[in-house]
Amino acid sequence: MPYQNSARLPGETASKLGHLTVTKSDWVKSLIQDFESNILSNEDTSGSNWSEFNSSSIEPLKSVWATDGSFVSIEAGGKPPKEVSFVKTALLTVDRAKLEEIDKEHPHPLLLQDIMSDSAVFHATVFPLKNVKTSLGTNYEAIRHIVNDSMKIDQNGAFYETLKWISYKKWSPLQSNSPSFGCPHCAADIPGLPYDSDTGCCPNSNCGKEVFLTDMIGFHLDMDEDSAPDSIVSSYMLVMEHLMLFTAIRLFWSHSDSSLLSNTLFIKDGPLTLRSQYSKLVPPIREFLQFAKDRNRPIHIIGQEKSGAFFDHLSSIARFTKPHDNEENIHYSVLSHDFVRREVYRSPDLTNPYGSRTNWGEKIYVKVDPSTQLVLSIPTGSYDPAGSFPTGGDLIGLDRILATLPSLISRKFEGALFPVELANGIASMSSYPSATILQRFAESKGG
Ligand SMILES: [Zn+2]
Repeated sequence: MPYQNSARLPGETASKLGHLTVTKSDWVKSLIQDFESNILSNEDTSGSNWSEFNSSSIEPLKSVWATDGSFVSIEAGGKPPKEVSFVKTALLTVDRAKLEEIDKEHPHPLLLQDIMSDSAVFHATVFPLKNVKTSLGTNYEAIRHIVNDSMKIDQNGAFYETLKWISYKKWSPLQSNSPSFGCPHCAADIPGLPYDSDTGCCPNSNCGKEVFLTDMIGFHLDMDEDSAPDSIVSSYMLVMEHLMLFTAIRLFWSHSDSSLLSNTLFIKDGPLTLRSQYSKLVPPIREFLQFAKDRNRPIHIIGQEKSGAFFDHLSSIARFTKPHDNEENIHYSVLSHDFVRREVYRSPDLTNPYGSRTNWGEKIYVKVDPSTQLVLSIPTGSYDPAGSFPTGGDLIGLDRILATLPSLISRKFEGALFPVELANGIASMSSYPSATILQRFAESKGG
């Protein structure tokens, strides 16, 4: 973690703000006082509720899969300047027993190589963002086709098959249509593609054009005819991280050794969340996790947040809870919807239960040792809007997840999980071709 800038002296800040007339407002005065108060609170005033975890009778999970992604946008010369963006996502598996042999601070390269050999897959593609012309069509059409093609190409279409598996709920004997979506050509409502189809036709008689299953995800809603924002690339990365993780889950689900799935921990970097149009994948994901839970095949998944409101909140309260030394057990706190609203977001938005549309996991704080605390999401299967939901019993496989965590803690970065660190290494910028090559690529695609 980087060092924080040293705090300015209170007097100095006050003298800079004192001449503003807005400081006559009592609200602003109170804000400034609070901002300038350097006194660390000496108790947890959020009322978080911690439990001790005793791992003695609990079997840790045997293997771990982790996913992570990254992207980089490159501007090439020309007038107007061209911009393309490269995105890469990785999925990696490690045997936890092998991981335990590794020194997490200074891993031996040969041991690492042994762990990583044949254990990682990655996916990469490139999107035109601005001023890149292809002879095939507009930027808008290019991105639609690149999404469709990219998802189908790698691993003989395994990631694309996972998109179909989620969209059509293929674990269920009932044959479902895909979720509904807006036509990318005319915005008419398409009530969902028929079971298992890759393409369909817009039902609007004035349009009737071909649409892809990948249009259902909704990337086109963020695009203009001529350009696309960076958010397209980060959304694609996020969707691919989901598809890669669920490809491992899907293959294990139908594996002849049915115990494999429930003996595995799946880790996604970031929260278990899909926002805006992408949230239409959330209901089928929840439904599948509940389906598996009902059949006594718990699927252990965690998402880890390394920044944001929950991370900051946990940083402010973690020191008040055990373990205070390495002899003490792990402690954890499951965050109810009411707690999230009241203490983390401080906005009692009662019309909209926390996470109801976007989250397929619920929040939990875990303090593993005196210097390691984690913000995790763990699925519950079905969503319950109740303010008191969830409790520890609702989180799928909580005990086995907690029993597995200590062996995964990295010693290199504070609060990092070693498998995510490894996945990050594969997906990171350093493994991209050098920027000059990317730039040349961008220039060669100029019109
Ligand atoms: Zn249409």
